[in-house]
Amino acid sequence: MRVVIVGGGVMGSALAWWLGRDPAFTGEILVVERDPSYRRASSALSASSIRQQFGTEVNIAIGRFGVEFLRRAEDLLAVGGEAPALGFVERGYLVLAAAPGAAVLRANHRIQRACGADVLLLEPAELVARFPWLSPEDVALASLGLGDEGWFDGWALLQGFRKAAIALGARYLTDEVVAGERRGDRAVAVRLASGERLAAEVFVVAAGPWAAAVAAMFDLALPVEARRRCVYVFETPEPPASAPLVVDLSGIWFRPEGRGFICGGPPPEEEDRPDLPLVAEDPFFEETIWPALARRVPAFERLRLRSSWAGYYAWNTFDQNALLGPHPEIDNLHFMVGFSGHGIQQAPAVGRGIAERILHGRYRSLDLSPLDIARLREGRPLREPAVI
Ligand SMILES: Cc1cc2nc3c(=O)[nH]c(=O)nc-3n(C[C@H](O)[C@H](O)[C@H](O)COP(=O)(O)OP(=O)(O)OC[C@H]3O[C@@H](n4cnc5c(N)ncnc54)[C@H](O)[C@@H]3O)c2cc1C
Repeated sequence: MRVVIVGGGVMGSALAWWLGRDPAFTGEILVVERDPSYRRASSALSASSIRQQFGTEVNIAIGRFGVEFLRRAEDLLAVGGEAPALGFVERGYLVLAAAPGAAVLRANHRIQRACGADVLLLEPAELVARFPWLSPEDVALASLGLGDEGWFDGWALLQGFRKAAIALGARYLTDEVVAGERRGDRAVAVRLASGERLAAEVFVVAAGPWAAAVAAMFDLALPVEARRRCVYVFETPEPPASAPLVVDLSGIWFRPEGRGFICGGPPPEEEDRPDLPLVAEDPFFEETIWPALARRVPAFERLRLRSSWAGYYAWNTFDQNALLGPHPEIDNLHFMVGFSGHGIQQAPAVGRGIAERILHGRYRSLDLSPLDIARLREGRPLREPAVI
C-alpha cells in the first residue's frame, strides 16, 4: 500500500510514525512537506500545552492518552540511542470563570470527573489560599487540574515524530501539492509543484491551517480557516512561584516558560479574520492583554515584554473541533484537520487513530468517531465549550 500524506507537521509526522511501526503495514509512506524549516507551521509556533479540562468526552480521553504518551515519548521516539528532549513540565491549568460562566465550568467539571480527570473546583476564598499572588476580582469559580496537564517543547515533538518516522522508512519529499486527481468517489493522485505525479491507494490531508486549499483540489469544501493567534514573552521582577497555566475570564492566558512567562488571548471577534499576516500586534498586548494580566496578578504591573510571535490556528468554523477520518464523498481520502488551537496535544492519539482507520478500517484503541468528518454533512456539530 502507498500512503501519501499532505503536510509533515506534527499531525502528518505522528501518522507517518504510527503507520510505520504497525506490523500490519507493508508498503510506502510518502510525506509531502513544502517547507522543512516549518517557518509558518502551527506545530513550530505553538504554546504546546496539554490539558484534561475539556467539555467533550472524546477530547478528555485524547488528552489522557496524550499525557501518557508524553511521559514515554523520549523512549518511544528515540532513534539510534538519541531521544528527543521534550521538557515535559507537569503542572495544571487553572481556569477562572465569572458568575455567568460558572455553570459551564461546573458542567465541564462533571464530565471531566466522569472521565477520570483529576480536577478540583475552587471557590474564590480557596483560590486565594492556594495562589495568594492572584486577585480573585470578579471570579465566581475556578477549576484546577491536579494532574495529567502541563506543557512541553512542541518543536521537539514534531522533530521526534519526523525523525522516528524516517527511521521506520517514511520518505519526506520537499515539495508542494498543487492539484488533486479524483475519479468519482476515489482519489487517484496528487500533482506536485515540481511536476511530479504521485498515485497512491490512500491520501491524507494533514495540511494544518491550509487544509481547505488542499480539500478544494479534490472539489471538497472544508470549514477550516487560518486564524492568527499572537504569543507574547515577558519577564517580571517578582514572578509568582510555581504558577499553573492560568486562563482568565476573558480567555487571556499565561504560563511560565523558562525564566519568564508566555501569554496570549483571542482577538476581538470582529478582527478575527482569516489569513492575517503572521506578525504579533504590540498594541493588542499593550491595550488588552497587559491590563488584564496586571488586574489578575498585581506583580505583572512591572512586567517587561521581551519578544513575541504569531501563528495560525486551523480554525474549524463549524464546531471548533478536529475533523477526522475518510471523507464521505471520497473514501480513500482521510482528514486530520481543524484542531482549532488544541492540536499539538492531540497528535499522539490522532496519529494512532488515523493509522488504525487506514490499516484496520476502524479505531481499535480509542474511539475517535465522535470527531468523524462525516458530521459536517450530517449537520451534527460537536461543540467544544472549552476552547482556549
Ligand atoms: C499560537 C498558537 C498556540 C497554540 N497552542 C496550543 C497549545 O497550547 N496546545 C495545543 O494542543 N495546541 C496548540 N496550538 C495548536 C497546535 O499547534 C496545532 O493544532 C498543531 O500544531 C497542528 O499541527 P498540523 O500538523 O495539523 O499543522 P501544521 O503544523 O501547520 O503543519 C501543516 C503542514 O502542512 C504543510 N502544507 C500545507 N499545505 C501544503 C501543500 N499543499 N503541500 C505540501 N505541504 C503543505 C505546511 O507547510 C505545514 O508544515 C497552538 C497553535 C498556535 C498557532
